[in-house]
Amino acid sequence: MNVHEFQGKALLKTYGVAVPDGREVTSPEDAAAACKELGGTCVVKAQIHAGGRGKAGGVKVCKSPEEAQAFAAEILGKTLVTHQTGPGGREVKRLLAEAASDIDREFYVGIVLDRATSRLTFMASSEGGMEIEEVAAKTPEKILKATIDPAVGMQAYQARQLAFGIGIPKASVGKAVKFMLGLYKAYMESDGSIAEINPLVLTKQGDVLALDAKMGFDANALFRQKAILELRDLNEEDAKEIEASKYDLSYIALDGNIGCMVNGAGLAMATMDIIKHFGGEPANFLDVGGGATTEKVTEAFKIILSDPNVKGVLVNIFGGIMKCDVIANGVVEAAKQVQLQHPLVVRLEGTNVEIGREILDNSGLNIISASSMSDAAQKIVEAVG
Ligand code: ADP
Ligand code: MG
Repeated sequence: MNVHEFQGKALLKTYGVAVPDGREVTSPEDAAAACKELGGTCVVKAQIHAGGRGKAGGVKVCKSPEEAQAFAAEILGKTLVTHQTGPGGREVKRLLAEAASDIDREFYVGIVLDRATSRLTFMASSEGGMEIEEVAAKTPEKILKATIDPAVGMQAYQARQLAFGIGIPKASVGKAVKFMLGLYKAYMESDGSIAEINPLVLTKQGDVLALDAKMGFDANALFRQKAILELRDLNEEDAKEIEASKYDLSYIALDGNIGCMVNGAGLAMATMDIIKHFGGEPANFLDVGGGATTEKVTEAFKIILSDPNVKGVLVNIFGGIMKCDVIANGVVEAAKQVQLQHPLVVRLEGTNVEIGREILDNSGLNIISASSMSDAAQKIVEAVG
């Protein structure tokens, strides 16, 4: 789960990470008032769950409350398209008005889980304000890394090494160390999944501040992170994914046109792979889980079909704990409720498969049955053209 920049900064501040003074604002008048409180100059920043706002015109230094008000009026309600939002963009509903920093240099720091070593990697770079992916591709030597031993946590010497390594001047290293250790603690205690500060800046006064903050949290830990969960902004999430989470379905929207209904995450991944293998593009990842009821399958089916890009559906079920007749009933029920017009290929195998096939055969629906996974994939790819 991701949060807005202003929320990430508020969290970081409680861990002693220095951030500019700022206010969340949702109207032009509030932007003017906030700018006044901040001393008459401020930076107004669009709050959407995507980076690249600066280049897309979503960040502006305003020299007066009037300018802040005018910029807020211009950008609120507007759809901002950045290289991270996709072509559809995101509607700007909130802004952050914060004190403008006197930037001397911009750096990058971030924390990610390295799945190869099962440890956190703390990264730092002198190339702040740029796309870190670009830095990694062109000048990987400019990204310094420290591997955190989970038994002892991040150590001050690691933060010092990184700070000196990226060129923080000696007089500010203490501040940078405090910053990095605070960021690490915030990440750990809130079950983070990503933390990126791009840019971390050194001001002309020698202070070390987070000018941007991207924080993500492990969705599987939200049950014990009530305060973080309250920061969830449903406006920023895919409507289909929100609907799916109500029914405990693991659904991820993708860009293709073949809807997939599968049980088991592994089989769901394999199904997407085989669709691609035969030249198709999956519209989603969906694992209906082991103990799905007819109702759950019906809802899953409706969610798949609510995606306007979907031109056909592939149902690939291996009935182990999940019984094929339950799936069949759900498919038939949902297909009737939504008056399914698209081609539907079904591959069923496992417990109660004969009953399941019978239900499908007697449903009066136009179902293309498949005998194996590759047969199913070829049939749906052909059917959607
Ligand atoms: P994004 O990554 O979405 O483009 P950032 O928060 O990184 O948004 O802002 C883009 C740029 O705007 C920063 O690299 C920095 O140069 C400038 N900026 C952002 N916030 C401030 C601030 N409070 N004071 C001065 N400059 C800022
Ligand atoms: Mg940034």
